[in-house]
Amino acid sequence: MIYIKTREEIEMMREAALTVSRTLGIIAREIKPGVEPIYLDKLAEQFIRDNGGVPAFKGYRGFPATLCISINEAVVHGIPTNKPLKEGDIISVDCGVKKNGFYGDHAYSFAVGEIKPELKQLLEITKECLYLGIAQACSGNRIGDISFAIQSFAEKNGYGVVRELVGHGLGKSLHEDPEVPNYGKRGDGPKLKDGMVLAIEPMINLGTKNIKQLEDGWTIITADGLPSAHFEHDVAIINGKPEILSTFAYVEEALTLIK
Ligand code: MG
Ligand code: MG
Repeated sequence: MIYIKTREEIEMMREAALTVSRTLGIIAREIKPGVEPIYLDKLAEQFIRDNGGVPAFKGYRGFPATLCISINEAVVHGIPTNKPLKEGDIISVDCGVKKNGFYGDHAYSFAVGEIKPELKQLLEITKECLYLGIAQACSGNRIGDISFAIQSFAEKNGYGVVRELVGHGLGKSLHEDPEVPNYGKRGDGPKLKDGMVLAIEPMINLGTKNIKQLEDGWTIITADGLPSAHFEHDVAIINGKPEILSTFAYVEEALTLIK
């Protein structure tokens, strides 16, 4: 069942989404070689609680942390550890917040120090996939139009598109209908309507699309061990058009200050 949100509900969701955005901005300033992912996690939890939110991932089906931190070949759902980040790593930081009864859920993939050009390109193309998908989130279109836009651009660039994990509806639950796959055909799937809120989140691999799960029961890695990137926004359909409730502005501001 797809829940349609009122304008008031969407404004509450924007607040949750922006709390995630600001959290990612705080984290962005701290990402450098030598930093322990567990430190980033503590910082995020404190910031979210100080700002009237609750970390949405912590305790979700037993997940132990506030952030999912997925490094290099890890696609998503990585558990923050005390193993320091290294120059040349790429890391996906995914964060969820519950505020006023609604969820925000969004993610950014970062470079740690200087990274290889092929990784820079993977990050850029994955982010572009996200925006191409968002552009299709108009009322009257179908979920498959979002999926197709993401898949076709990723594959045109020679990348693998993860099949087993997908974007989703978002609201009073962290994962609502409909599923938003990153692969599919134009014109397929549920019709998009005003008041839908979607978490759109391409997970794009440098090599094969295939994945496996680590024995920790959470971390998803690429089957070939090549790196993977992940970007996610929360998008509401308003007056027929996509409106991004989250923002990368805080992250991008932080990244400019570091340089
Ligand atoms: Mg997420
Ligand atoms: Mg999500």
